[in-house]
Amino acid sequence: MTGVLLALNAGSSSLKFALYDASSLTPLCRGAAAALGAKGQAAHFSAQGSAAEPLAAGAALAPDIDHEGAARWLIERIGARLPELELAVVGHRVVHGGAEFSSPVRVTPEILARLEAYIPLAPGHQPHNLAPIHSLLASRPDLPQIACFDTAFHRTQPRVAQLFPLPRAFAERGVLRYGFHGLSYQFIAQELRRLLPERAQGRVIVAHLGHGASLCAMRGLESVATTMGFTALDGLMMGSRSGAIDPGLLLHLILQEGLSALAVHKLLYDESGLLGVSGISDDLRALEADGSPVAEEAMALFAYRAAREIGSLASALGGLDCLVFTAGIGENSPTMRARICGYLGYLGVALDDAANARGALSIGAGAAEVLVVATNEEAVIAEAARGLWREGAAGR
Ligand code: AMP
Repeated sequence: MTGVLLALNAGSSSLKFALYDASSLTPLCRGAAAALGAKGQAAHFSAQGSAAEPLAAGAALAPDIDHEGAARWLIERIGARLPELELAVVGHRVVHGGAEFSSPVRVTPEILARLEAYIPLAPGHQPHNLAPIHSLLASRPDLPQIACFDTAFHRTQPRVAQLFPLPRAFAERGVLRYGFHGLSYQFIAQELRRLLPERAQGRVIVAHLGHGASLCAMRGLESVATTMGFTALDGLMMGSRSGAIDPGLLLHLILQEGLSALAVHKLLYDESGLLGVSGISDDLRALEADGSPVAEEAMALFAYRAAREIGSLASALGGLDCLVFTAGIGENSPTMRARICGYLGYLGVALDDAANARGALSIGAGAAEVLVVATNEEAVIAEAARGLWREGAAGR
């Protein structure tokens, strides 16, 4: 029997996973259950890698399966289809760890209860992250489960970057800019340490542009500022989230237009961003294929908002040595990279158009380095989970 490590990465509508040999961290397969809870689209499963074939062959998810069901289905399927593998440890992405969790932790029922308290701060993600933990704690209480936090990477932000200009009592009760996508930023920081050992110690901005999107300013490869804040709604325009908007607009919607708080919540999380502005899709690929004037306007606004926020983080850093694009849009859309970089000549950003078009690692032609680096949140989860699993085994 080979002991295996399962890394689970629950997003708003998908459950990505990766399976590794728990001792060597050799990747065995990775994949995703996608379109979970999506309207008008049935959930589906895909996997790639050496152990993928038995998992993927004939796989059929119930069309309306949720994250918890998909995780249970996957674990049962690993047990049934890959009997030579034994699940030794599960690592989970957990979006919110608040101010108290700045590093990965083995989940106990008591810790789970503390993590549940953050559900109102990340309603689109935290419940999906915690549901599989909950069900595994009940069904397999001895199986080590490690939570890895998207907020943890940003705990290095200086206090001034974390404070809201509100009465101090708010900060004292944890109303702070936390920041998210930390597992992705941690992976990119590790890659940069390897790729640009000296330059990456300077002023770096990483653009994680996917369905969710944010920026992280790093110095010495540590987070010093980020565009998401108390929730994952702030900052950049996203697939269906508005990002930063005038807070007075919220008051107007509630007080003058009579929208309920719940209606505002739905508007800002689910009906805005690329989807809202285009009225077509939250998916950049669909908008690029559509090319109509409204799709065009949505993409132009996405780029404009990203460029403005890059300028803001460059101010926090005092300039820019390196800009990194990652995640679905950042890694795959030369057009969006070019639109954004088109605003940034004043920061020394210029593109080598041919390198950009083919998605080369280094696509810059100006004073600032511009890179395209594929992110891998599951690798960060796996590394952390193996570390705590080994400590646990050593402690017994
Ligand atoms: P993620 O959340 O990181 O999976 O990123 C999802 C986003 O990446 C969606 O908006 C996709 O349309 C976009 N995306 C993925 N592949 C491509 C591509 N080849 N060209 C343009 N956008 C893409």
